Amino acid sequence: MSNVFYRSSKSYPVAVRAGGVFIETQEGRSLLDGSSGALVANIGHGRTQVAQAMAEQASRLAFVHGSQFTSDVLEAYASRLAAFLDLPAFRFWAVSGGSEANESAIKLARQYHVERGEPGRFKVITRVPSYHGASLGALAASGMGARREVYAPLIREDAWPKMPKPDPTLSGEEDAERLRAVLEAAGPDSVAAFICEPVVGASDAALAPNAGYHARIAAICREYGVLFVADEVMSGMGRCGAPLAVRLGGDVTPDIVVLGKGLAAGYAPLAGLMASPEVYGTVMDGSGAFKHGFTYAGHPVSVAAGLSVLDIVEQEELVQAARERGTQLLAGLEGLKDRHPQVLEVRGQGLLLGVVLGDPATGQAFERPGLADRVAAAAREEGLLTYPGSGAVDGVRGDHLLLGPPLSITPAEVDLLLERLDRALARTG
Ligand code: PLP
Repeated sequence: MSNVFYRSSKSYPVAVRAGGVFIETQEGRSLLDGSSGALVANIGHGRTQVAQAMAEQASRLAFVHGSQFTSDVLEAYASRLAAFLDLPAFRFWAVSGGSEANESAIKLARQYHVERGEPGRFKVITRVPSYHGASLGALAASGMGARREVYAPLIREDAWPKMPKPDPTLSGEEDAERLRAVLEAAGPDSVAAFICEPVVGASDAALAPNAGYHARIAAICREYGVLFVADEVMSGMGRCGAPLAVRLGGDVTPDIVVLGKGLAAGYAPLAGLMASPEVYGTVMDGSGAFKHGFTYAGHPVSVAAGLSVLDIVEQEELVQAARERGTQLLAGLEGLKDRHPQVLEVRGQGLLLGVVLGDPATGQAFERPGLADRVAAAAREEGLLTYPGSGAVDGVRGDHLLLGPPLSITPAEVDLLLERLDRALARTG
């Protein structure tokens, strides 16, 4: 009998080691990590350079509490990160996971308005579908019915007005203009922030708006005195072929950028936010303290992992690699779409790609859900890991698979991924 509290009643293979883009199980199977776990393992598995940096940090300074100290490693990392993201004057607030980072962003936006003398601003506009995390505040922000249902009594719905998802048939500007109506309906003076994923992740398989969207969103937010929060937990750190996905369709600087996943690429729990000088300055010049904090915020060992990961991302030019391998993978997926009619659409940016599955007769999700789970199970048997999501909810078109291998994947490994997915689709067509 196991004492582990598993996530579900299905049976889980036991992972024992991993290297590059492959994860090995206790039974000796080698699985190609086509989704970097949940879009986390950006530099691939088994990098001893990162492990050594963490061991060195743990021996020298494993922990200090953020209410008492900063640390040399945190100072160095914040500067490197600000330069990498081209957010030179922004301040880095480090936490352990994407949900914590979004909780922090939401609370910071709220406190910013209180400090400015506008305590009436508390609402946060979010989109449907969206996913911002599992903790209650981040979940309340998430437009994902299935994950919210059970907790609905704990959520004050009017605090979280919802905007429709990006519509690729509209120009980016027209699409973004739809925020105005949501703001007006919510009462602009009651809104603290708008938050979105620049490229939607797990909730709608790499859906991205057209160019110009985020710049117009930023302009509307400015006009109404609302903070623009970009949740780049999945899309950031090079995953989409740019340090920040929010800048893919035009030059834009959000007020708060939320990061996670690829930050330490799975070597340690690390996430955080970057706050603009205006947001940071307002709080520090006002009450003088962000009224929020987690015990493990800015943990030196996690930050050391992040620093070492950033070294690798820069030395191996993995942002450019994400663009190149992403182009190769997307072209291969287009080929699979031609061969397998249940593939309705393939899309995405860099190495954050989505395969939308459904009924070729209707162009919609099958009435009987679960196709993505069946394809993912077949892919696993073929030696490929994918990240399935179900459709027919929250306006999502079909079941889908999210693909996002490590940015360090080689061209030959991209071909292998496509071969295995091809066989899985053939078995489930
Ligand atoms: N934000 C986005 C866009 C995500 O994709 C996720 C996780 O998938 C989160 C936040 C939550 O991050 P975590 O699971 O690290 O708490």
